[in-house]
Amino acid sequence: MTAVVINGKQMAADIIAELKSKIKQLPTPPVLAVIQVGDDEASTIYVKHKQKAATEVGISTCFYGFAKDCSQKELLDLIHTLNKDPEVSGILVQLPLPEQLNEQEILDSIDYKKDVDGFHPYNVGLLQNGYKKALLAATPKGIMHILDTVSPDLSGKHALVLGCSVIVGKPTAMLLLQRGCTVTLAHDKTVNLSELTKQADILVVACGCPEMVKGSWIKDGAIVIDVGINRLNGRLCGDVEFTAACNKASYITPVPGGVGPLTVAMLLENTFEAYKAQNNL
Ligand code: NAD
Repeated sequence: MTAVVINGKQMAADIIAELKSKIKQLPTPPVLAVIQVGDDEASTIYVKHKQKAATEVGISTCFYGFAKDCSQKELLDLIHTLNKDPEVSGILVQLPLPEQLNEQEILDSIDYKKDVDGFHPYNVGLLQNGYKKALLAATPKGIMHILDTVSPDLSGKHALVLGCSVIVGKPTAMLLLQRGCTVTLAHDKTVNLSELTKQADILVVACGCPEMVKGSWIKDGAIVIDVGINRLNGRLCGDVEFTAACNKASYITPVPGGVGPLTVAMLLENTFEAYKAQNNL
């Protein structure tokens, strides 16, 4: 089998074009507040990319940069101010935060209605209960968009999610369960991993280990979603051995150009949804 390589860039471009025309019709532009602590190179690239994409689609952005050694209180004070500001539709805190900061307390302090990353426990709870109005974490939402596009009926399929982080693995597993999949959630303590992957019709890999999943681990015809972003000998790669996996999978996402662009598109969609909910539209 030779896999169809999923064009995440094109899928994201389609979502963004539709969003742009919807945002044009709003009385005022949605506003996304972006908070970055420190000047980590990767975070700076991600933040600039998100701001550029927001501007292109018609979302205004406000950037708040903090020194690496800033205090918990400084951040919480800003978030409380942004929570109360009716002009601000969404608040994004770029992760990871420096060690002296309590990341969970900061994320929990964001008004759940402005939680465009979908990390607030209230939104996580809504997702758990299958409540459609939840602001969903952007990457899982992007993964589901890809899967719904290539395989409209997921029910009855065996899905293996490899990696169980709060931002990718766990919410993705929950969304797959809601689509009627039989879900296995695997992690770094899982034994006989390759035996499990061989049974998966849908394989979502988000563990941050370059090319860990070998082509021989993949079931013939499986749909493979590679979320990982790693550097290996200076080049970008995913968590799946791409070329070998292409010989087994029916569909596969590349790295780069697969899940990443969808994550950005879904963040923008969440900002639009947050704006509409706050303005009763
Ligand atoms: P994380 O470090 O929070 O979680 C990693 C998970 O993988 C854990 O559950 C861990 O148990 C599991 N794991 C690690 N090593 C393993 C192994 N050898 N075998 C089995 N399981 C293993 O990571 P995360 O934040 O979920 O990110 C995962 C990857 O996805 C990273 O490469 C990250 O850069 C990437 N990512 C990409 C996007 C995107 O938009 N494309 C978004 C978020 C994260």
